[in-house]
Amino acid sequence: MESLTNRKKVVSDKQMTFLESLYLPVVLAGMAMTFRHMFNKSATIRYPEQQRAFAPVYRGMHVLKRDEQGRENCTACGLCAVACPAEAITMVAGERLPGEEHLYREEKYAVTYEINMIRCIFCGLCEEACPKEAVFLTDRIVPTSFDREDFVYGKNRLVESIDNRIDITKRQHTGKRGKK
Ligand code: SF4
Ligand code: SF4
Repeated sequence: MESLTNRKKVVSDKQMTFLESLYLPVVLAGMAMTFRHMFNKSATIRYPEQQRAFAPVYRGMHVLKRDEQGRENCTACGLCAVACPAEAITMVAGERLPGEEHLYREEKYAVTYEINMIRCIFCGLCEEACPKEAVFLTDRIVPTSFDREDFVYGKNRLVESIDNRIDITKRQHTGKRGKK
């Protein structure tokens, strides 16, 4: 039969020598390599006690920002959820009631806002899509857990606290796509 290419590999069926059939040389060679690696600098680190330096544009856990007056920026427009390729964001919109002007910046706000951190691929598209500068990714790591439910982050863990604001300026100003 005519071959399609001229790439062929000739399979050798040469008999093993007595020494080879003992497998000792290859076992010793393997052990020598293991021994050599014992004195090499380890490529792993003892996380979480030790941490590597992150790139300035690292995209980690999200934050829902408040404005200067402490009001939530998010108006539950849903654009972040539409932009999310992992379908990780869900929300329920509500109307601001009289007297709640100090809580929410606009008439509509997110009554619930959830991000499933297991689904999230930290692409940053939600941040890009948001017209209200409400959702940003930060340099914080999502903590580990043995419980899948723990990875569904609601507003209690996403909205920044009034007295402990999350600084996002470093990543925003370092990244090429940073917002002004
Ligand atoms: S970072 Fe990407 S995957 Fe994660 S919630 Fe935002 S848009 Fe979805
Ligand atoms: S975070 Fe931004 S894009 Fe998402 S619902 Fe709120 S305002 Fe809209």
